[in-house]
Amino acid sequence: MVLPAVERRRRSARLREGETGAETAVGLALERARAARDAGAFLHLDEAGARDRARALDRAPEGRADRPLFGLPVAVKDNIAVRGLPSTSGSALLADYRAPFDATVVSRLRRAGAVILGTTNLDEFGMGSSTTRGFRGASRNPAAPHRIAGGSSGGSAAAVASGAAFAALGTDTGGSVRQPAAHCGLYGIRPTWGRVSRFGMTAYASSLDQVGVLASDPVEVGRVLGTIAGADPRDATSARRPVPDFASAASRPRTPRRLTVCADADLAPLDPASRGAFQRAVRRFQAAGTRVRRAPLPDADSAVAAYYLIACAEASSNLSRFDGLRYGRREAGDGTLAGAYRVSRSRGFGAEVRRRILLGAALLSRGYKDAVYGAATVARRRTREALLRLLAGSDALLLPVTLSPPRRLDRPDPASAEYRADRFNILAALGSLPALAIPAGERDGLPFGVQLMGPPWEEGALLSVAASVA
Ligand code: GLN
Repeated sequence: MVLPAVERRRRSARLREGETGAETAVGLALERARAARDAGAFLHLDEAGARDRARALDRAPEGRADRPLFGLPVAVKDNIAVRGLPSTSGSALLADYRAPFDATVVSRLRRAGAVILGTTNLDEFGMGSSTTRGFRGASRNPAAPHRIAGGSSGGSAAAVASGAAFAALGTDTGGSVRQPAAHCGLYGIRPTWGRVSRFGMTAYASSLDQVGVLASDPVEVGRVLGTIAGADPRDATSARRPVPDFASAASRPRTPRRLTVCADADLAPLDPASRGAFQRAVRRFQAAGTRVRRAPLPDADSAVAAYYLIACAEASSNLSRFDGLRYGRREAGDGTLAGAYRVSRSRGFGAEVRRRILLGAALLSRGYKDAVYGAATVARRRTREALLRLLAGSDALLLPVTLSPPRRLDRPDPASAEYRADRFNILAALGSLPALAIPAGERDGLPFGVQLMGPPWEEGALLSVAASVA
């Protein structure tokens, strides 16, 4: 099911260099989407729409110069609005909803000449790390079909790894772009919070949510990020900062002079093969001349706790609008409004989402708010400060993404183990820092990835470093 990375990169390069047109690229993409249907990557594949758009692009090739992503087949996670397509966020509650507008990131992609292939599978509302918790079932890892693709942007990762999409949008609240990227052997970036507009993304935990990009090489990540980034009048939290040329940053490989690498003690939760693969990635930088300093990461247990407390509190507030009355599928219940509210929410939301809403609502109630939520915001601030100290004087921080290979689909983890396994990924989220997962070979015959974290707004530097070991 997987299309080898060399082949994916070759196809991308041919399109970029103008050797192939939009229709050819989209044709190849749809052929792969059909061949890899079992991966469960797409919730909705818009074959006709994609072909029409590709044809229209090829009919006006003179526009190519103004369209940096001319003909690029892109998949979009189903919690990002694509006009006219179903937009479910993986929830039964939104099974009947079609987006009446484009998210800002989607309209920017279209303007740049990208072709939207369809929407991809996810854990319901982005809550999870496996893409098994959506109402339409699990995605499979194209490199190992009886294993998870990772999550929550697992459909986007499967779409790229199977060769259907040349690039995909995901969302990363606490790892959901980087973790599936690592599990599927891809590049996946979580930008600095505020770098990319969230208008049209279904909010999970707003102070942590960011739209990110998955692709097969750093240049494609840079091109797509450069297109979607930048201030948006429709999202007041988007940063009014110039957007550097990320594509050229990604095409200028730069061996880092200094890297901070997490301490050996931080690697203890990894299984031995993953630990070995991580150390190999460190040695690769050293062999290229990088000076490596080892330093312990901020305390991961309190960071995980802070992340989940904040994420659940914000989720309970964000998801309160899905009540079956104003938004979401309405179930009649006992005929009263209160009954419809209760039944719509208890049937519409899956178990994990209900658990998080309840936990979040309890947390925000009187008595808990100052003690627990207050403590979580203090831990969040301390985590950011500690990360900034680790970054001072070095080009980036290098750390793992996952503790172990993608698990088998028939061996589910308890939610608590899944939360703990997010320990490396929630750090950049709490710190509002950019982080990029990069492929780093294999262990046990399965894709392995590491991540680079950088100072705020330094996505370009991360892409240059990634290119140096690509
Ligand atoms: N696994 C984490 C969670 O469930 C991260 C998910 C995400 O980044 N959307 O919250």
